[in-house]
Amino acid sequence: MKAEFVISAAGKDQWPDSTLPEVVVVGRSNVGKSSFINALTNRKRLAYVGNTPGKTRLINFFAIDDAWMLVDVPGYGYAKMSKTMLKKMGELMEEYFSERSVLALAIQLVDARHDPTHDDMDMIDYFKALGIPILLVATKIDKVPKTKRIKALKNLSTKLQLPLSEIYGISSTEKLGLDDVYHAIQAKIL
Ligand code: GDP
Repeated sequence: MKAEFVISAAGKDQWPDSTLPEVVVVGRSNVGKSSFINALTNRKRLAYVGNTPGKTRLINFFAIDDAWMLVDVPGYGYAKMSKTMLKKMGELMEEYFSERSVLALAIQLVDARHDPTHDDMDMIDYFKALGIPILLVATKIDKVPKTKRIKALKNLSTKLQLPLSEIYGISSTEKLGLDDVYHAIQAKIL
């Protein structure tokens, strides 16, 4: 896979002038989003792991295989963020989700070990309302015992009302499930 950084955009005037289909990756802070993007693209530091939220207020665009764009938006649900910062980030994201015409797919990340949070459920309801297709990626599956992995994915399927066939358990540290996600993305958008 070829992955190239394109731009960090602070607003819509900086969105790339591109017609490639876009895949946006979303999830609460610390869910493993940077690790997932790096593992998926085979890059160590394409997305910066362990970012402080202040530094991730921008929307990052990466061109993949010259065929589609991977879009990294700020993580949500960070407890220590100020109200002003939350509002700014919400506006930045809402602008992107509701106005970006080439947006083709949302990859929603949730932690494989836990029930989805209220924020996770709100995000998914929002994508459903906008008619944006969703792939659910359950991160840190290495932390779930092998015999309990299917059960964990089924639980997410029930709680989030998403088909099990669109839910992928992955581990960025153990490199599990990443090829499946890559192929699922392509099947959905190309
Ligand atoms: P982000 O805030 O969503 O970008 O999350 P990061 O990618 O920075 O990861 C948050 C923490 O979870 C870090 O300590 C990572 O090392 C850890 N982490 C990320 N992915 C995995 C994974 O697949 N398995 C395990 N065990 N830990 C992970």
